[in-house]
Amino acid sequence: MSRRVFVVGAGVAGLAAAVEAQRRGARVVLHEAAPHAGGRCRSFFDAKLGVTLDNGNHLLLSGNQSTMAYLRAIGATGTLIGPTQPEYPFFDVATGDAWTVRMSPGRLPRWIFDAETRVPGTQPADYLPYLPLFWAKPGRTIEESVRREDRVWSLLVRPLLRAMLNADPSEASAELAAGLLRETVAQGGQACRPLIARSGLSHAFVEPALRLLQYGGAEIRLGSRVAGIGVSGTDSKERVSSLAFEGAAEPVTLGTGDGVVLAVPPDAARRLVPDLTAPDASRAIMTVHFAVDAPTGFQPLTCVVNGMSDWIFAADGRLSVTLASAGRWLATPHEELAQAVWLETAKAVRMPAVPTPPWQVVAEEHATFAAVPSQEGLRAATRTRWHNFTLAGDWTATGLPATIEGAIRSGQKAADALLNPSMER
Ligand SMILES: Cc1cc2nc3c(=O)[nH]c(=O)nc-3n(C[C@H](O)[C@H](O)[C@H](O)COP(=O)(O)OP(=O)(O)OC[C@H]3O[C@@H](n4cnc5c(N)ncnc54)[C@H](O)[C@@H]3O)c2cc1C
Repeated sequence: MSRRVFVVGAGVAGLAAAVEAQRRGARVVLHEAAPHAGGRCRSFFDAKLGVTLDNGNHLLLSGNQSTMAYLRAIGATGTLIGPTQPEYPFFDVATGDAWTVRMSPGRLPRWIFDAETRVPGTQPADYLPYLPLFWAKPGRTIEESVRREDRVWSLLVRPLLRAMLNADPSEASAELAAGLLRETVAQGGQACRPLIARSGLSHAFVEPALRLLQYGGAEIRLGSRVAGIGVSGTDSKERVSSLAFEGAAEPVTLGTGDGVVLAVPPDAARRLVPDLTAPDASRAIMTVHFAVDAPTGFQPLTCVVNGMSDWIFAADGRLSVTLASAGRWLATPHEELAQAVWLETAKAVRMPAVPTPPWQVVAEEHATFAAVPSQEGLRAATRTRWHNFTLAGDWTATGLPATIEGAIRSGQKAADALLNPSMER
């Protein structure tokens, strides 16, 4: 009989682990505490607006290789859309200026040498001082690594890194920025095409994975919270031997060949594995969804600078605005926040400032672990001291900030490590 792999947590890390384990012939049992899968990357029906919304705008890049492999594996490659070229429209709330940065496809950054494709008012030499970011050292913030006050910084580097790391460059880890940049910008424009989920996050990342798992015979248990992990054996023979569930009288006993991938957020992982080190600080993201059509020709994704917002995503009948590193807005009444965000969104999309269209605010207080230097050393490795128990999640040591790409890669690696115990530790 094939071995069982228990995957705990059905966010994208857990789903990727489950898909990989099933692909390798394991019998998968997936436990998710919430009544739905997807974790921090999901869609839900919003009764106020009467539409399905994403919990937040998610930007992917064409260079996110683990994500692309996952989408191929679950048969969902067509669910992401984006421009055929690496283009980024910008809007400056302070000046009302709009421009588009058009990266060149190859590794040579030719776009920097063309006034039509680089940031307006900059020269090629202005980009050179940012090169050290690609090799940034641990323990330093982005601002400590490249301290500049020029247009490349304020209109390109600062806003993009702030949105992608969900932390202001004054506190954000330069090492994590380097990890991100090496996999995308350093690979050339073809790795930097922006992609978004055409019909919502669940349609792209969650539903096809659940269908594939079910088709392959996996047991999917939603509303099933793991409350404890039992260990037996001594020394090198020690292994995880049972899982206890909230509300269940008896724990589930694991057979000798069975294994567990724990793919829960860091606070939940720490509760289940008491001596685990894991990030203990997080940053919020708020999303304001407006039920309104963008004017014809408005791009699906626009970067906003010098305002409250960071991104505007446009979809059918909806404009959704991201506020990154949004801790300071969490206490603001949602009505007030929606009106303030609409004022700058209306400017960007060139629509009337009043009335504010019907809106919904989604606040994710613990959207990402804090991508700051003090958290770097707290990220856990995939393998643990128990050979049949591995860790996954965006907060594990992926070298990337909290992203779908990091989460999916961690899940694939955790399943791999479990089913390949001979792999080097
Ligand atoms: C608003 C927002 C915007 C974002 N924007 C982007 C973006 O633009 N690009 C990008 O790449 N990333 C973005 N991210 C980050 C991305 O969503 C996450 O990195 C990713 O979804 C994390 O996946 P995960 O599986 O590691 O964790 P999670 O999604 O948190 O999944 C963990 C799962 O474990 C479950 N669980 C917890 N405890 C237990 C238990 N005891 N038993 C069973 N199950 C349990 C939880 O319910 C959850 O479903 C954003 C995140 C948010 C919130």
